Amino acid sequence: MQDIQYAAPKTIDEAVALVAGANGSGRILAGGTDLLVQMRSGMLSPGLIVDVKKIGELTRISEEGGGFVIGAAVSGAQIGEHARLPKAWPGVVEAINLIGSKQIQGRASAGGNLCNASPAADSVPALIAAGAIVVVQGPKGRREMPVEKFHAGPGRSNLTPGEIVVGLKLPPRAAGSADAYLRLIPRTEMDIAVVGCGVSLTLQNGKCTAARVGLGAVAPTPLLVEEAGKALVGTTLDEAALGKAAAACRAACKPIDDKRGTIAYRTKIAGVLLQRAAKIAADRAKG
Ligand SMILES: Cc1cc2nc3c(=O)[nH]c(=O)nc-3n(C[C@H](O)[C@H](O)[C@H](O)COP(=O)(O)OP(=O)(O)OC[C@H]3O[C@@H](n4cnc5c(N)ncnc54)[C@H](O)[C@@H]3O)c2cc1C
Repeated sequence: MQDIQYAAPKTIDEAVALVAGANGSGRILAGGTDLLVQMRSGMLSPGLIVDVKKIGELTRISEEGGGFVIGAAVSGAQIGEHARLPKAWPGVVEAINLIGSKQIQGRASAGGNLCNASPAADSVPALIAAGAIVVVQGPKGRREMPVEKFHAGPGRSNLTPGEIVVGLKLPPRAAGSADAYLRLIPRTEMDIAVVGCGVSLTLQNGKCTAARVGLGAVAPTPLLVEEAGKALVGTTLDEAALGKAAAACRAACKPIDDKRGTIAYRTKIAGVLLQRAAKIAADRAKG
């Protein structure tokens, strides 16, 4: 077995330099709930592990310009226990808090969930619906991209060599806004989503003035379904509008058949979850 080097830098610059200098064999370690499982099963054998949990910016939640920045290595438990984040973004927080068990929650990060790049990752459809932005740093400096542009395919991201994820920015919320995330799994706990759906919307005087919809596990990468959001805006979220948005979700699906669900089942469920998540988000928006 090849030797594995371990480093725990205290700054982002050091972490970037370490990963960039490892010629593709460096891996970031956040909670390790994907990385260590993949190493044990022989899927991955990195030459260098860069533990980012000693870097201040990656391990805190800050409030900026009325929004939030979640450090890439902040655990699900920290996110769920934050004083203001769960109230501002209940859908994002419930998606992150669905990951694994209590033990997993103490380790698993939203940054790791994003970077592992599973099409079924639970936090990602909710982050897409929220309009979250990924902050990335690499040898050429810092850049930002919307979450829906982050993935290149199953297990692949659009990070360039040496880049790491620093954090996730959640925008300020307009009054009357809320979000929700729902997933379907074959068991009651600890399973991979057959479909996941995040909805974020704003209601003013009973009318929907803004809406975004994210879908997971129905395509090679998580999706922003713009047509579904458009179908909700300008309506009172009546059955006709929800039906149109559900149809847009079904039309966006390009799923696979596997032991968890067929193409037809996943496609149908995407529409069902959209309608249910939109109703939950609307109830929350009404307070
Ligand atoms: C028992 C169990 C249950 C689970 N249940 C669920 C579930 O219900 N839903 C779900 O979506 N997932 C689930 N998972 C998968 C996993 O827990 C999540 O994907 C988790 O969020 C990964 O976060 P982490 O901090 O542990 O990532 P890590 O394992 O530390 O990292 C994951 C990958 O991302 C890379 N990475 C991490 N951080 C960065 C960064 N800042 N910049 C660049 N690359 C980075 C790592 O190199 C690695 O390739 C489960 C796993 C287990 C073991």
